[in-house]
Amino acid sequence: MSYYLMKKYAYFSSTKLIQTINKNIMKYLYILAILATLALFHACDGCGNTPPLPPQKDKISIQNNRSGEEIGLLIDGTFDTRFVNDSSFVSTSPDIDLETISGTGEVIAFSNFRPPALLENINWTTNRDSFALNLQNEILIPVTVWVLRGPFSTTRTSAINWSLTTSSIWESERMGVAFDDFEIIDATGDPDAPNYFDFRCNMRTNMINDIGSKPGRINIYIVETVDGGSARGQACSIGSDFVAMAAGAGSELLAHEIGHNFGLFHTDNLPTFNRTNVMHSASNSRRYFTEGQVFRSHLLGNSALNDTYNARLGQAIRNCGHTQNDNQCPAIDKRIWEDGTFGPN
Ligand SMILES: [Zn+2]
Repeated sequence: MSYYLMKKYAYFSSTKLIQTINKNIMKYLYILAILATLALFHACDGCGNTPPLPPQKDKISIQNNRSGEEIGLLIDGTFDTRFVNDSSFVSTSPDIDLETISGTGEVIAFSNFRPPALLENINWTTNRDSFALNLQNEILIPVTVWVLRGPFSTTRTSAINWSLTTSSIWESERMGVAFDDFEIIDATGDPDAPNYFDFRCNMRTNMINDIGSKPGRINIYIVETVDGGSARGQACSIGSDFVAMAAGAGSELLAHEIGHNFGLFHTDNLPTFNRTNVMHSASNSRRYFTEGQVFRSHLLGNSALNDTYNARLGQAIRNCGHTQNDNQCPAIDKRIWEDGTFGPN
């Protein structure tokens, strides 16, 4: 090979060599780029952990609520380091973010057209807890009304008005109860009826025997006066399935007497109640139930919802005292929503 040829070959080989090296470098760079991208994606799994997230808020998911109705919760648990009884939350959505709660506790839920619901024995962890709470359907109760004092058509109209006002109060105050059958019987022709026109509770048993009653429901008797008053009523005992009403009673009195059937006592002597509460003993402006009262109406063992209607079979019973306030029973004046001049507490 001539010197010239040799030089040319050497030049050619070195160019080829450089090209080959460049190709390999490019290949390595390409692989490195893919690896780096993969590493980046992998590392992003942990991106959210730096800086650490704040503590996770707990959550309650309500099921079977009536669409569009507000939901109120009373929560027991340890918030920060302190146990809190009946902390209130209100939501328009069934998925409700709470606070960061720990320790043991429970949840009570209230909503329109649904009975209050209780989720007991919760162990709140330090992680994000999420619990479901299913609301039962509205409780439908049949009642029978016996008209002793006529004229029947007039008294019948009054009874219907009472039932409408009662239904309206139950709806707006989230009692979760409605009348199924509101049966009205004409007993004005019963020869025994006049014996009970001026009703007192010592006549109760005889009146039931003489006029009649239907089992498994609240029986309401309309007479002329009750305890001497032409606008009064009597349940005769707390938790009974009995109501006597004077024909001239105001339209909100029936909700009051059935409140006694549901186990509720008068609220006259408590400072956080006035005449606008349904359980005031003498008022014609009754319209509110507190959440403490709605809770008792359903949970008390002697409530007609339990011992007459058996409407809550298998559900919790709590025989809360009238003024009991602890981790078993919300205070009687506990309010998630305002009742006129009394705000949430
Ligand atoms: Zn009363």
